[in-house]
Amino acid sequence: MILKNAKIVVENKIIENGWIELDGKIIKSVNEGSTDNDGIDLEGNLLMPGFIDCHVHGGYGYDFESGTYEAFEIFSKNVAKEGITSYVQAGVTNSKENNMKYLSEFAKFMANQSNGSKCLGLHMEGPFISKEKKGAHELALLMDPNIEYLKELITASQDNIRIMTYAADLQDGSFTKFLLENNILPSVGHTNMKFDQCLRDYEIGFRHVTHLFNGMSGVSQYDPGLATFALYKDDILCEVITDGIHIEKDTLKLIYKIKGPDNICIITDAMNAKGLDDGEYKLGNLEVIKQGMKVFLKEGGVLAGAGATFDHNVRTMIEANNEITLTDLIKMTSINIAKQLNIYNQRGSIEKNKYADLVVLSKDLQVLKTFVEGELVYER
Ligand SMILES: [Zn+2]
Repeated sequence: MILKNAKIVVENKIIENGWIELDGKIIKSVNEGSTDNDGIDLEGNLLMPGFIDCHVHGGYGYDFESGTYEAFEIFSKNVAKEGITSYVQAGVTNSKENNMKYLSEFAKFMANQSNGSKCLGLHMEGPFISKEKKGAHELALLMDPNIEYLKELITASQDNIRIMTYAADLQDGSFTKFLLENNILPSVGHTNMKFDQCLRDYEIGFRHVTHLFNGMSGVSQYDPGLATFALYKDDILCEVITDGIHIEKDTLKLIYKIKGPDNICIITDAMNAKGLDDGEYKLGNLEVIKQGMKVFLKEGGVLAGAGATFDHNVRTMIEANNEITLTDLIKMTSINIAKQLNIYNQRGSIEKNKYADLVVLSKDLQVLKTFVEGELVYER
């Protein structure tokens, strides 16, 4: 298959007018200019690497806690509308009994995925987080990081846990080491830890932070916390919910100025009500209200996950920082996280021999088409 007449964004370069050839699931060639060969005419629109969301709980009525093969499947098909071609599905704090149930069903889905957006595994957000920064997680189910319990979770998931959000101050470094040794990305978050408490685990090797600024100790001249540390260290990749709600646009300017395009990955953190009408929904066991793209706890009003789509977050990031170029943008939507998850040899950019995970966008960054492994899975 050929996709032609496109403005193609490849790593560090824009091909103003080009075409690509696919061989089944794989990109066979990336070319400048036009071609007379038959193919899909992209009419001068943008062709970019598909978006990778490493922190998405759900949307369209489903989330990890829906806990069935069918729910995982419906979600993976729907999320392609946002230009997402692969994602790490996030789970909130659950009871052990529920986790075991959901994980075994999730493992079945992972072993036999259908033709939607590609799920890369699970981002486990809780129960190993701190009470002070629990956000919308259920207090009674929180616990300190526990390797023995994690081993059980890994087994139940059939080795499909890819990212672990945890409060690094509630363990002695051994949990961080265990994650790294078991190919699970340690992502520090939902913690009140101080700047100097971050150093030990940074030296052990954590380089990823869960939704910068949200659910963590912040930036204060008297009391510098994890957010200060994550901004200070150049090589920590920060997840950022760029919806303009979890972080104001002016703060997005500051984050971009400090971290630059190489150390930000855009996420949605979206929950099951994304894409649905306004109203009352559940996040785990908690009751939440969705109003526009804002989702908050019915009791207390704390933001509880998010209701915005990935493409919305991309546009909001650009509105906040209009100096962002398209080659910088694809770092934050695809390249950085693909590198972080060690899949950059297969996904994350438009390059010969990689999977044809692609999104076609209009000039104002509306999603027109999404291809996952060479297959057209969404068309507006
Ligand atoms: Zn989350």
